[in-house]
Amino acid sequence: MGIAGFEQIGVIGSGQMGSGIAQICATHGLRVILVDINTSQLERAQKGISLSLSKLESKGHLKAEDLPQIEARLSFETQMNRLASCDLVIEAVSENEGLKTKILRELDTILGPAAVLASNTSSIPITRLATATGRPSQVIGMHFMNPVPLMKLVEVIPAMTTSPEVTARIIALAQGLDKEVSRSQDYPGFVVNRILMPMINEAFTALMEGVASAEDIDKGMKLGTNQPMGPLTLADFIGLDTCLAIMHVLHDGFGDPRYRPSPLLVKYVEAGYLGRKTGRGVYPYGSTN
Ligand code: NAD
Repeated sequence: MGIAGFEQIGVIGSGQMGSGIAQICATHGLRVILVDINTSQLERAQKGISLSLSKLESKGHLKAEDLPQIEARLSFETQMNRLASCDLVIEAVSENEGLKTKILRELDTILGPAAVLASNTSSIPITRLATATGRPSQVIGMHFMNPVPLMKLVEVIPAMTTSPEVTARIIALAQGLDKEVSRSQDYPGFVVNRILMPMINEAFTALMEGVASAEDIDKGMKLGTNQPMGPLTLADFIGLDTCLAIMHVLHDGFGDPRYRPSPLLVKYVEAGYLGRKTGRGVYPYGSTN
């Protein structure tokens, strides 16, 4: 069993991304331990996964009789040392380099020597994360899209130090999870966010300058460029804190003023209006979900 030689997967960070990654790994027959420091978030993740599995079942994407087995393959923990027996750990904690480095270093001491470390970072240089550990040839970027169970793409980003064998296994794993892979070199924002985030950032600047209302900006981009949703709605889905963190990575990484974060995006984050996950972003959502 297993996929590409991976059987026991650890996921750190049970937010919107980590819980989705854990869900699809368990759906594809892998045993998964999901770790978060925040117990209420872990409970939310467990409920969210059950709900998502039921929705997929009601739409005919999963069989009802498979759901108990999928859920039984998942466990929820607060201690990272529970991951000692994993052959792959995917970190999906908040987009903060210091935090990710600390976690990867700690995992390096907990895991067996053959284990692989993958980061779901949206933009932080993988080579820097890899060289912070004692296993730079076994660290790689594995960038899932949100919402993970529905979005087809995984961006795979080998660090300069990643071995070709690890890259090949991670590509095979993503394909085994029924995803399409696009490979990117390790430059700030990789491909998807290097192109997407400046568009979202510009939407905040247009809103700040009063060019149009949020609704008109979104309608213009949705219907005018045939996207499934407008950039401000998408920012609320992604999380405004994550969008801002990515703009900082692009700005710092390229040293180019065209990546300067929009002051309005900064202000929303300072206000704690982070999008759907906090119940309010550019738009109000009523309750956290
Ligand atoms: P989130 O805020 O929903 O979740 C982050 C989780 O990390 C929280 O549950 C938090 O409790 C947990 N955490 C923080 N410190 C921790 C620690 N020391 N140990 C264990 N858990 C800890 O964020 P998210 O949207 O799920 O993003 C997670 C990662 O995925 C980020 O790197 C982000 O850039 C990336 N990403 C996000 C999206 C998106 O659309 N949101 C898409 C692709 C990639």
